[in-house]
Amino acid sequence: MSSLFLRTLREDPADADVDSARLLQRAGYIRKAAPGVWTWLPLGLRVLKKVEGIVREEIEGIGAQEVHFPALLPREPYEATHRWEEYGDNIFRLKDRHGADYLLAPTHEEMFTLLVKDLYSSYKDLPVSLYQIQTKYRDEFRPRAGLVRGREFIMKDAYSFTIDEEGLRKAYQDERGAYERIFRRLGVDYVIVHAVSGPMGGSESEEFLAPLAIGEDTFALAPSGKAWNVEALTTPAVQDVDHSSTPAMEARETPDSKTIEALVAQANALYPRSDGAEWTAADTLKNLIIAVKHVEDEEHEKPWREIVAIGLPGDRQVDMKRLEAQFAPAEIEEATEEDLKAHPEFVKGYIGPMALGPQAREKEGIAEPARYLMDAHVARGSAWITGADQEGMHIFNAVYGRDFESDGTVEAVEVRQGDMSPDGSGPLSFQRGVEIGQVFQLGLKYSNALGLKVLDQNGKAVPVWMGCYGIGVSRVLACIAEAHHDERGLAWPAAVAPAQVHLMATGKKAEAFDAAEQLVSELEERGIEVIYDDRPKVSPGVKFKDAELLGVPLVAIAGRDTIANGTIEIRNRDGSDSVQVPAAETAQTLADRIAALR
Ligand code: ATP
Ligand code: MG
Repeated sequence: MSSLFLRTLREDPADADVDSARLLQRAGYIRKAAPGVWTWLPLGLRVLKKVEGIVREEIEGIGAQEVHFPALLPREPYEATHRWEEYGDNIFRLKDRHGADYLLAPTHEEMFTLLVKDLYSSYKDLPVSLYQIQTKYRDEFRPRAGLVRGREFIMKDAYSFTIDEEGLRKAYQDERGAYERIFRRLGVDYVIVHAVSGPMGGSESEEFLAPLAIGEDTFALAPSGKAWNVEALTTPAVQDVDHSSTPAMEARETPDSKTIEALVAQANALYPRSDGAEWTAADTLKNLIIAVKHVEDEEHEKPWREIVAIGLPGDRQVDMKRLEAQFAPAEIEEATEEDLKAHPEFVKGYIGPMALGPQAREKEGIAEPARYLMDAHVARGSAWITGADQEGMHIFNAVYGRDFESDGTVEAVEVRQGDMSPDGSGPLSFQRGVEIGQVFQLGLKYSNALGLKVLDQNGKAVPVWMGCYGIGVSRVLACIAEAHHDERGLAWPAAVAPAQVHLMATGKKAEAFDAAEQLVSELEERGIEVIYDDRPKVSPGVKFKDAELLGVPLVAIAGRDTIANGTIEIRNRDGSDSVQVPAAETAQTLADRIAALR
């Protein structure tokens, strides 16, 4: 420690917003270079290499081969997949001296696809899996939480290439298994969450989330232990309601009732319920008009705009992100005034099922009836107060399935604590987490966009099935620190600690320092990593404080007892299990304790 490039800080850095960022800086593992950009110091780099080492071992263990791509890449491949635009402000773009466009890669699907296309041409070459551990760049809107959301960060990204979908499924399962081993070895808790595909577009995908309060992701947990990303949640089929005693529907005057609140007040004032109870927002069905911005497809040469109506219970809010996930790759937005004008059958504030979907198609005079999708919480047979398509009018006792139909169901509303879980195992609860990894069945998206084909057994050129698999290596390091620390400092799991033993010599007498140095060589001979605090004229108090801050799992002290009794004290980082051991046996005792930690 007298020569280690290290300065521990007594004070918390002013802008550290989470414990891991605070402690990693105070303990001299990282320094801030710019918002979301970090410098690795010797101790931090040691931990990083250990995390990388475990990732590497497990990923090589499933047969993937390591390569390394540059971070600085030309625009063209990203143009071909539309990601040059799709990433928006999230990528760092730059020009070279000749004016050519470049980017700092946010992820590398394009480059891996092109590399395999460049070198492979036959089904006999497949399957193959490649990976790298490499620096990525994303111009995050809000870098935060130290290494958790950086603008420069380290990712392990792996890609599988297989001749068919079955091969993809196997590669996906292999990778998923490796992730479980990696996170277990790293000492981070994880929840595997069903995800929907983001801008990558694909099929099956799962995220590995570290359940931490500092996380920005919310996931829903079922009593069965299964978990879902909020966007991926599906509502289990709701039971039909018996409507045999529901009276016929009836249009009634409800003046000035454009909002659900006003409608409920009018209904209670003018048409009290027969059972004496109050009408509530849950008795109303609101119909929201959205615009779906479709991308071009087989039928449409150009992107096109579709007006769609969504029916949802009046006591629930629409969740535009969840709704949008179901129209992917299309995007959605609320319909504009212009959209509404093109549909004279819509009476703003009073839009009802009769002007939508199947009902509208049966009517004369509606030029282009809007598709009508029903939120999955609306049961068939249930009765509603809903718009009558006339100013100041609503229909009462409109029964879904009896009086009106939809064109299908959709997940439209915000999910709530207590909603039934997709697998029917009980009510959902919500937790916060940090995404530490993701596994993704890409399918044919990139091979089609970039023309990656091989000849199959019949000599026919076929696109290659791809999967991609990311782990946020620097982020996961922060999550380990977040999960393993106390108020005095870091407390690393042995597998990633910068050393296994933090040895200090205290006092002024040479004997303690001599005994400590002897122990250092014995430990190093056994291949045990040791941080040795040999600083003269530094008080024991300061040395203890630093040991607790740095967070090495075992602490050994050569001092007064060494001189008096020839013993060295061994204790755990948290101060527990303190013992005095004869100096000659200390190395063995430490080796035993380390073995027990693993
Ligand atoms: P997020 O939703 O947190 O922005 P993402 O889903 O965009 O992440 P991916 O494209 O799936 O991220 O990247 C793979 C992994 O890289 C993520 O699972 C995460 O662990 C890590 N990662 C992504 N963005 C960052 C970042 N800004 N800083 C550190 N690690 C990141
Ligand atoms: Mg992700």
